[in-house]
Amino acid sequence: NADLALYRAKESGRGQLYFYEPVMDEKVERRRQLDYELHGALERGEFHLLFQPIFDLDTTRVLSCEVLLRWTNRHHGAVSPVEFIPIAEDNGLIDAIGHWVLYQACEAARGWPADVSIAVNLSPIQLRATHLPAVVLDALNASALPPERLNLEVTETVLLEDVEASLAALEALNRLRVRTTLDDFGTGYSSLSYLTRFPFQTLKIDRSFVTDLARSPASIAIVQTIVDLGAQLGMRTIAEGVETQAQLDQLRRTRCDAVQGYLLARPMSAAMVSAMLTGDAGEEAAG
Ligand code: C2E
Ligand code: MG
Ligand code: MG
Ligand code: MG
Repeated sequence: NADLALYRAKESGRGQLYFYEPVMDEKVERRRQLDYELHGALERGEFHLLFQPIFDLDTTRVLSCEVLLRWTNRHHGAVSPVEFIPIAEDNGLIDAIGHWVLYQACEAARGWPADVSIAVNLSPIQLRATHLPAVVLDALNASALPPERLNLEVTETVLLEDVEASLAALEALNRLRVRTTLDDFGTGYSSLSYLTRFPFQTLKIDRSFVTDLARSPASIAIVQTIVDLGAQLGMRTIAEGVETQAQLDQLRRTRCDAVQGYLLARPMSAAMVSAMLTGDAGEEAAG
């Protein structure tokens, strides 16, 4: 029986390998190279941060800026975080990279007006690391940024993999008076009962719903439901990925709190965002 199972595994393995060979080789090889290049990327200074403003929907004031990590590798050029973050999660480098992002982000936000906060994406691995509160506190202390001005974004799918650990981490962050946002809301499979258990201050409505907003009644209903749910639970709602005026108009009708997207502002350099926030060279920063 064992022999038979082995034979079958080999057979199906060989079949797949044969079928996918050229594509698989390329993917595996690129991943192997990026994995290798990620080691030393911090030391070589290959990372930088961009900042994308989040606007109050009523007043159009900038409430916050989301930090988006960029990697420009010496051999591979610009690599998307969608591609390299999962590799860094697998090879363990996400911890060091995530710390670097947190420190840099707090440092950047320190120079901004006091009513503008900073939103930093957290990997699930960072969220569940027992040293997260210490690292966050360290970054805040190093930059003298008030904890209320730091907002940590966590994606929905992540939470349910380990509910108790996620809860404990979020509560520890709340005790530090750091804010938390549930990112990409609606794409995961959280039940509503979980939502009430997790102490988020903000829900970020996933771009996929915003994209369809102008033409799909179903998306309007979903967004409206999320906004109402947020209001009921005392959470603010942000819509991400706003690209058109029609989407923005529709979001106004849903009474969501804040908006983020290319229509309003693209991710921009630290220099540009601080010029925009302090009113210097506003034209340049907006362009
Ligand atoms: P996210 O946190 O949902 O970030 C929003 C993404 O949507 C960003 O992509 C942003 O550039 C993009 N975006 C913003 N406005 C628009 C718009 O109007 N239209 C469209 N089509 N896209 C828009 P980006 O920078 O490629 O980041 C992708 C994902 O990578 C992020 O999704 C986040 O999950 C992850 N990521 C980025 N930086 C970090 C980081 O420092 N740490 C961790 N752990 N993850 C990060
Ligand atoms: Mg985010
Ligand atoms: Mg998001
Ligand atoms: Mg998203």
